[in-house]
Amino acid sequence: MSRTEPAADRAQDASPLLEARGLRKSFGAHEVLRGVDLTVRRGEVVALIGPSGSGKTTVLRSLNGLETPDAGTLELTGGPSLDFAEPVPKARRFALRDRSAMVFQHHNLFPHMTVLQNVIEGPTQVRRVPRAAAVVRAEALLARVGLADKRDAYPHQLSGGQQQRVGIVRALALSPDLLLFDEPTSALDPELVGEVLTVMKELADEGWTMVVVTHELAFARAVADEVLFLDGGVVVERGTPARLFTQPAEERTRRFLHRLL
Ligand code: ADP
Repeated sequence: MSRTEPAADRAQDASPLLEARGLRKSFGAHEVLRGVDLTVRRGEVVALIGPSGSGKTTVLRSLNGLETPDAGTLELTGGPSLDFAEPVPKARRFALRDRSAMVFQHHNLFPHMTVLQNVIEGPTQVRRVPRAAAVVRAEALLARVGLADKRDAYPHQLSGGQQQRVGIVRALALSPDLLLFDEPTSALDPELVGEVLTVMKELADEGWTMVVVTHELAFARAVADEVLFLDGGVVVERGTPARLFTQPAEERTRRFLHRLL
């Protein structure tokens, strides 16, 4: 499957990797997710857009077990399958986390470790990859994002864009089935945003399966196969970017896009 094919063809070919149904989540009295459905197919990029506080990050964090919904189901092809109406055993939550890797808004690199140490930490400590193999892969991935010469640098010696690219490499090093991005460029100075979005677009072109929470509507429009517009804890509208950005069916979507485009 190639990402040079039209998105519609790719989506038809691909089998679902992840299916979330009816996700609900409250923090105290505040119901943040009010029944969210989401399907992610292999090789697909799904973008979550919507106003601040609409529940995008909570959806994303629910997909890898960082947040536990109060209700709903989550099924990853090949396991695990979770029903949040019942207590979720720890092993199944960890199995969920094993399948994905998250890139955070703030890169969350360990400040006292070099770039290389940051990248091999997960593979060696969590996935039990032998150190030598982890180093070889880390070096290849760093070269892949143009940071081969930064392997021995510490995070504070890098620009924000470089730090975030290391954050992406750290996620890739875990060889996840699913890459989750939580507003990966929103903490960056405007001039550094492009280099991170370029790497993300290349990963999409390589066929990585990605769910991206983003305010970068131009990126969502250019790269996503499907866009979900969330507001008030529900998916108000979903569709291909070509349709959703040009002919939004819902007034709320229209108003949101109108403010930002
Ligand atoms: P978005 O990503 O669309 O900005 P979030 O999913 O981050 O939205 O947050 C949705 C709502 O849930 C917000 O009102 C936020 O303040 C609240 N929220 C998120 N996480 C927590 C938490 N751990 N405790 C209490 N409230 C939270």
